[in-house]
Amino acid sequence: MAAKIIPVITAMIFVLAGSVAADDLFQVKIKSTDDAERLRNLNTNIILKTLDGYLVLADRAAVSSSGLECRLLASDVTREELYLDQRFDDKNLQNFSAIFKEDNVRLFRLKKEQVPLLDEENQIYPLPELTLEPVYREPEAFRLPFSPAVISLDSLAGLVSQDIISANTHRLEAFYRRLTGSDSDFAARDWISDKFIEYGYDSVVYDNFYGFPYGYVDNVIAYKPGTERPDLQIIVGAHRDAGSVSPGADDNGTGSAGVLEMARVLKDIPTAVTFIFILFDGEEQGLDGSWHYADEAKARGDSILYMLNMDMIAHYQNIDRANLYYGPVQTYSQLWAHLADSLFGITATFKGTSGGSDHYPFIQNGYQATFVQEGIFSTVYHTARDSTTYLNFEYMKRMVQASLATVYSVDASRRTPYICGDVDNSGYINILDIAYIIRYLYRDGMAPFPLAAADADGNGAVNILDVSALIDHLYRGGPTPICD
Ligand SMILES: [Zn+2]
Repeated sequence: MAAKIIPVITAMIFVLAGSVAADDLFQVKIKSTDDAERLRNLNTNIILKTLDGYLVLADRAAVSSSGLECRLLASDVTREELYLDQRFDDKNLQNFSAIFKEDNVRLFRLKKEQVPLLDEENQIYPLPELTLEPVYREPEAFRLPFSPAVISLDSLAGLVSQDIISANTHRLEAFYRRLTGSDSDFAARDWISDKFIEYGYDSVVYDNFYGFPYGYVDNVIAYKPGTERPDLQIIVGAHRDAGSVSPGADDNGTGSAGVLEMARVLKDIPTAVTFIFILFDGEEQGLDGSWHYADEAKARGDSILYMLNMDMIAHYQNIDRANLYYGPVQTYSQLWAHLADSLFGITATFKGTSGGSDHYPFIQNGYQATFVQEGIFSTVYHTARDSTTYLNFEYMKRMVQASLATVYSVDASRRTPYICGDVDNSGYINILDIAYIIRYLYRDGMAPFPLAAADADGNGAVNILDVSALIDHLYRGGPTPICD
């Protein structure tokens, strides 16, 4: 028996070693659904999403005969040799050679002896295992809101409080070194959860995950269900952890306080889609918390319309500039730039893509995301001096306002169009609308859809006063109903 098994094992080792050794790294462009189908049929190992396609580990002959536009990046590569760069500058290019570079996404191939050199300073982390399905997406056009928003963007922005964002950033700074998995990281987690509850959220959860070397830690998540399309989601996120030597005021007490403030302001304002506010953990170790969340969201089939990530939004040298990073689709990043410029005096620079913060795992999983960052990068980044002393809260307030206006506009684009007072959706207002409201209120009739269309006096509730308002308008020359 033994004599037979040995050749089999030898053959298996040969096959395994052969398949590993034969894989080359290619950049493949996807320009149509046909291309996506071709790549799917190749059954290759897709390791990373790029702006116009994917990086794949594949057999050279198979890729070249596929008809796909591709470029050989490296030969005889294994996934274990590959690392991503988390830095926002290109300093690592001086020490390591990148086999792929696209804006601020850099992929390095490292030898085993180089790996012990990795630390918080050079910020390189192993390429995560991704389950990527090749897809081609037509660019999505932004649809302007059809119906009156519940609140105007100006009024909404007016609710953002500089005092509160300042107080919350100071409080986060005071959790001494929020290193992932440390006591102060857990204390900050509990404090953030308490804040969500204080702001009125009754659905706040810890999203537990395991990472090396810190063990089990949690993202903190608060949910605000959508009124019309609860199946669609907008995610507002930031990492709450900090480096080992830093108070983490700008990086990323500011982004965290920004998420909390957006959650506070939006709490009692109805939104069509579901908002999910997330304070990630383990970002400094390689975006661990956001990889964990985004991979699970993709596996669940979550419909994430948009993910907005804030990381470092208040360095004191800033007055009127921001940097934006994004993936293959820029629609909502352009919306951010437009709103920031027209309403809040901030000019955005489009910086391309970046693998350096928590938006990136969402982009890799096929979702649209924007990473918002201060225009002039912190001079005290990852040092003991990253304290609130070096922050400009007036600028930070406008960064948060622009982010808030953007996500609210994305939500408004999903609101069901309606004419105020046209309760039965006939296209105009008449006596039948009055009858519809009365049936709804007193005779178990169907609810108007959306309900807001029946709020003819705009007081936020549907009741007999709306019937009066419609009668007044139709028969006594009263004002046109305005539902907001
Ligand atoms: Zn950061």
